[in-house]
Amino acid sequence: MSKRDYYEVLGVEKGADQKEIKKAYRRLAQKFHPDRNPDDETAAEKFRDVSDAYEVLSDEQKRAAYDQFGHAGVDGQGGGGFGGGGAGAGDFSDIFGDVFGDIFGGGGGRRRGPNAPARGSDLRYNLELDLENAVAGTTVDIRVPRHVTCDRCDGDGAEPGTSKDTCPTCQGMGQVRMQQGFFAVQQTCPTCHGTGMQIKVPCHKCNAEGRVRETRTLSVKIPPGVDTGDRIRLNGEGESGVNGGPAGDLYVQVAIKSHPIFQRDGKHLQCDVPINFVDASLGGELEVPTLDGRVKLKIPPETQTGRLFRLRGKGVKPVRGGAPGDLLCKVVIETPVNLNEEQKDLLRQLQKSFDDSNSHSHSPKKTGFFDSVKKFFEEMKP
Ligand SMILES: [Zn+2]
Ligand SMILES: [Zn+2]
Repeated sequence: MSKRDYYEVLGVEKGADQKEIKKAYRRLAQKFHPDRNPDDETAAEKFRDVSDAYEVLSDEQKRAAYDQFGHAGVDGQGGGGFGGGGAGAGDFSDIFGDVFGDIFGGGGGRRRGPNAPARGSDLRYNLELDLENAVAGTTVDIRVPRHVTCDRCDGDGAEPGTSKDTCPTCQGMGQVRMQQGFFAVQQTCPTCHGTGMQIKVPCHKCNAEGRVRETRTLSVKIPPGVDTGDRIRLNGEGESGVNGGPAGDLYVQVAIKSHPIFQRDGKHLQCDVPINFVDASLGGELEVPTLDGRVKLKIPPETQTGRLFRLRGKGVKPVRGGAPGDLLCKVVIETPVNLNEEQKDLLRQLQKSFDDSNSHSHSPKKTGFFDSVKKFFEEMKP
């Protein structure tokens, strides 16, 4: 497994603080978002890499483990739509034992004893939201596949009413000694996987697994103001624990879809407002969209393209509180198209009028530009 360094993936320094990490994540998540890159596998892969890196680096505990042990320290935490502890975390706690078993809720490392309670793995659900829903808050139903304790055998693995034998391979120890050259290595018993018991009749429902896969529909309340990179934790909605251990948590990772009108930048929104050059020259009143309806915006005479108009408080109310952001309307002057003869004629008259009067005063920028160009070429002459 050759994974890229998480800091490298996000393009941040090793000592970056949470703010920088979040900022880098937002920028990259938006860049590689599947919405913006339809049918682009490379972008989809990058999006997953970026999400995985953020998941680890945004969590101080996981980040500490990653800093110390690299990818081995956090394996099984990331992954595709659902990051599960699964086999990765199980193997992992076999290596590091109690130190990380507690943090990551691995599947019961042998140093903790095979029958000791272990916390279930955390799960991640990637949720895409429309901007409107993210700003106003909403409730979404999500379908979450996960492992839960089998209710037929109560997680025991044996068919109810049947007994269990002591494992013949390990005599109930749960571990076996393997001779490898000079070294004697203790290993989890391959027959009973460390439980020390052998199931005579496997549970009919879970086939001795003790857990079954189930898809649950959960109602998730999304608070108003969430943004790409925010995470909602649902306590105890992850994988169920082992041997009566507590369930893991479910993390709903939010990503905002791109919007046809508004671009979001934290609590501020921006939109382009096309206007024709007559309105821009004479000034006037425009209708501009906001998330709660249209509002009128006064454009002064002689408005240039690219000018920003700030509508205070028409942005997003941040999820962590504070004043709402602003809406920035950027005026974009559109050159008229599909002109009829009469209109063309009027424009020619206008042009003539400009030429006759002092054209410099009507287009100061253009005049300034051509003066600079002239000077530039004159200075080039030998
Ligand atoms: Zn069962
Ligand atoms: Zn055994």
